[in-house]
Amino acid sequence: MWCFPKADGYSFSAAYVRDPKGKPDELKKQLTKYAELFDLDASRGEYKEHSLNLWQKDRALHSDRALLVGEAAGIVDPLIGEGIRPAMFTGVQSAGAVIGALQGDSNALASYTQSINQEWGSNLAKADFLAGLFFKAPKIAYKMGVKRPAAGQLMGKILCGELSYSQVAEKATQKLKFIPGIG
Ligand SMILES: Cc1cc2nc3c(=O)[nH]c(=O)nc-3n(C[C@H](O)[C@H](O)[C@H](O)COP(=O)(O)OP(=O)(O)OC[C@H]3O[C@@H](n4cnc5c(N)ncnc54)[C@H](O)[C@@H]3O)c2cc1C
Repeated sequence: MWCFPKADGYSFSAAYVRDPKGKPDELKKQLTKYAELFDLDASRGEYKEHSLNLWQKDRALHSDRALLVGEAAGIVDPLIGEGIRPAMFTGVQSAGAVIGALQGDSNALASYTQSINQEWGSNLAKADFLAGLFFKAPKIAYKMGVKRPAAGQLMGKILCGELSYSQVAEKATQKLKFIPGIG
């Protein structure tokens, strides 16, 4: 959950994994409780829900004269919902591709699709796989995975680009597969 103070008010936001069997109003309830911590009455504000465009599979990110970047390209981590770093990365890469295309490289836009799918797609496929395991039994997986002190350091390295999901997926699978409901 986040609270961003603004000149004329506040933006409260939260991300969650929708469970078809879950309580539909839970997110609103939790945000309201969070706002109360700031002595604010959330019922006076505007409430909106939007889906995150999570990565699903490699796909074309270019057409004849256009490129998809960031969340529009679906480059959002399906395990933790990280979308800012990949949006910046695809933004920089796409700028290079546009310059290449303007300089006459007819393959520049197609190369953009290829390099993003290569550099992020394979990694996000592993994140998607881990998300599949994790969200089967999130409470237990959280306790046995995320709450461990080493998990924070591991996640830090992934977010800094020092480690890839591909490098940790096998180890994580070994740990998670012994958890009842996941294995
Ligand atoms: C509650 C929440 C928490 C999140 N927390 C994190 C986090 O902690 N870390 C993280 O990495 N990611 C997080 N994300 C995901 C991340 O914010 C997005 O994936 C990321 O901002 C995508 O960047 P973007 O540039 O692709 O798109 P956006 O940031 O959505 O930018 C698109 C911009 O285009 C503008 N726009 C849309 N249509 C038009 C139009 N027709 N004409 C002109 N402008 C237009 C929009 O107003 C917007 O400013 C979170 C998302 C949510 C919803």
